[in-house]
Amino acid sequence: MAEPKTNELMEKIVSLCKRRGFIYQSSEIYGGINGFWDYGPLGTELKRNVKYLWWMDMTRMRDDVVGLEATIIMAPEIWRASGHVDTFADMMQTCKSCKKLVRADQVWDILVEQSWVQSLASIADVATQSFDGEALMRWADGKGKRLVPNLALVRNPRVTLSWLSERSKSSKQAPLSAKEFYQYLATEQLAATGLITPCPYCGGELTAPRPFNLMFETWAGPLQSEENKVYLRPETAQAIFVQFKNVLETSYQKVPFGIAQIGKAFRNEITPRNFTFRSREFEQMELEFFIKPDEVIEAIAGSVVKPGESHPGEPQPNWGWEAWHKYWVEERIRFYEGIGLPRTTLVEYWQKPDELAHYARATVDILFKFPFSKRNEKGELMGEELEGIAARSDFDLSQHERFSGKPMGVFDEELRTAWGKLDEAKKKELWQRYYEARLKYLTKTAKSDETPDQIDKAAREDADGLAKGQYIPHVIEPSAGVDRLILALISNAYHEDQMPDAKGNMETRVVMKFHPRVAPVKAGIMPLLKNKPELVKKALEIRDTLRPHMNIFYDDAGAIGRRYRRQDEAGTPFCVTVDFETLEGAKEGPLAGQKDTVTLRYRDDGKQERVKIEDLLSLLMAKIR
Ligand code: ATP
Repeated sequence: MAEPKTNELMEKIVSLCKRRGFIYQSSEIYGGINGFWDYGPLGTELKRNVKYLWWMDMTRMRDDVVGLEATIIMAPEIWRASGHVDTFADMMQTCKSCKKLVRADQVWDILVEQSWVQSLASIADVATQSFDGEALMRWADGKGKRLVPNLALVRNPRVTLSWLSERSKSSKQAPLSAKEFYQYLATEQLAATGLITPCPYCGGELTAPRPFNLMFETWAGPLQSEENKVYLRPETAQAIFVQFKNVLETSYQKVPFGIAQIGKAFRNEITPRNFTFRSREFEQMELEFFIKPDEVIEAIAGSVVKPGESHPGEPQPNWGWEAWHKYWVEERIRFYEGIGLPRTTLVEYWQKPDELAHYARATVDILFKFPFSKRNEKGELMGEELEGIAARSDFDLSQHERFSGKPMGVFDEELRTAWGKLDEAKKKELWQRYYEARLKYLTKTAKSDETPDQIDKAAREDADGLAKGQYIPHVIEPSAGVDRLILALISNAYHEDQMPDAKGNMETRVVMKFHPRVAPVKAGIMPLLKNKPELVKKALEIRDTLRPHMNIFYDDAGAIGRRYRRQDEAGTPFCVTVDFETLEGAKEGPLAGQKDTVTLRYRDDGKQERVKIEDLLSLLMAKIR
């Protein structure tokens, strides 16, 4: 029997998110809307911090990346060129009874989460082949009727059970798998139909899988006609490709360089699930980093360097696509570590050749081990995708060149000069390789009216361009989801530990151990008592000094211990308390006798130290950077 999924940790996280204002269900007072989520006050700050840090890391701290902010609705031709209109689809199955839709590759994952499966798990154990027919009959007549009215076992228990018992008794065949067990329960005309996969929601029969395009459609203009049909962008990347030439011409950049964008993307996911992990509206942080094709590097630098196992270091002129790809994988992992996701929570997954998109030369998915991730045979969490880093060749710019009719290539003086100095054999070799790559691309994407001769001619013209210093840049694409990262940070931060309360009794505390760089609130500012004007005055002064530099929370309500706990749950790394020693002088320690000191309390271990008010800003700034 499949393990019923009772992910307590996830339930606690979801409940904390709502209780503390990280994440709410969208449109909650109207019953919610599936796949859409709103960020509350703490979630908004967390998200802003994450986006800011990504932007700093990817653009402002570098000379070779610039930004873009494009529209969500763009010319629909873009999505034809990118392949989204034809192929951006998931396989979907529909229930013939309740009409609900299920993503074909998720049917079994969803099934094991259902209460009817969990209820069956308590009366049948597939692993040991022991299920009691009588108990199943009783279940079918009682709970089954209520929970899964369309399951064959419920509608026609005798027939279904007879198939099941026959099969499980057969010593010639391998023991039943959990999947087969449920398929038998869903099948009453075995001879006519073969085994049937049950709808996870009502037990009915599912249709065969068929593709379902994930793009949201709407109309630009008053007429809801086919010509006015437009799409909400399913990714931010395409805008970068279509604005590539504009950015190149206005930013004084030269290949290699990148264009970064953060923005909303929309996908009509068939089965949004796992909280915000798979949403229908979400945000992406994408970089398209344009590089010279390897043939161009070889012409200019003499050879192309291959990356080793570790970070290849500072970019070099002789890097080909493999070194650049490795560089971005390592840079992105460094980023995640720098915002508090330990290396042990991440998995670097290299897609297998048969998993790669046809234009991709390599793709690495960075996975995070979420509480709901599947486990391997050893019981270890396997992780779910946070970000994909793809080496996409020159596919995207080439597609837009072909569909728009506008040149997307670049002119490179260095290449033209270097080419002139190559010997004939080298020119021939590089020309041939470039020609073959272009021929492959042009053949794969040929329109029905294009002849092989035309394609060959176009590939030759492209390869001839090398001598003139012309080529279409290749691209490395690190593409991350903001919302998945927020969920990873929240999952990673969630801790429960024991701490003494005001009376010294140990109590369980929930503490969100965010890295101070991402923490929504950096410091809680608290006068010990709110009815002592001198304490309040000092605390407000501190608030006003810190506020322009960091997000702070002024809290004067309730016992100080309670206020600390509230900040622990919000993930605030530091609390600053103004007390009587601030006014009268510290009682002990290195600052004994000095006025204008405060208690600085650390979230993770609850330790406290006395610091001077005048040192507070620089001290905190050093910790939150
Ligand atoms: P998946 O296989 O999980 O559907 P994908 O490979 O289709 O993801 P990409 O197209 O590579 O995802 O998108 C880049 C990033 O955008 C993903 O790594 C993820 O972080 C984010 N993302 C994609 N789809 C969703 C979604 N439905 N909800 C939230 N984030 C998403």
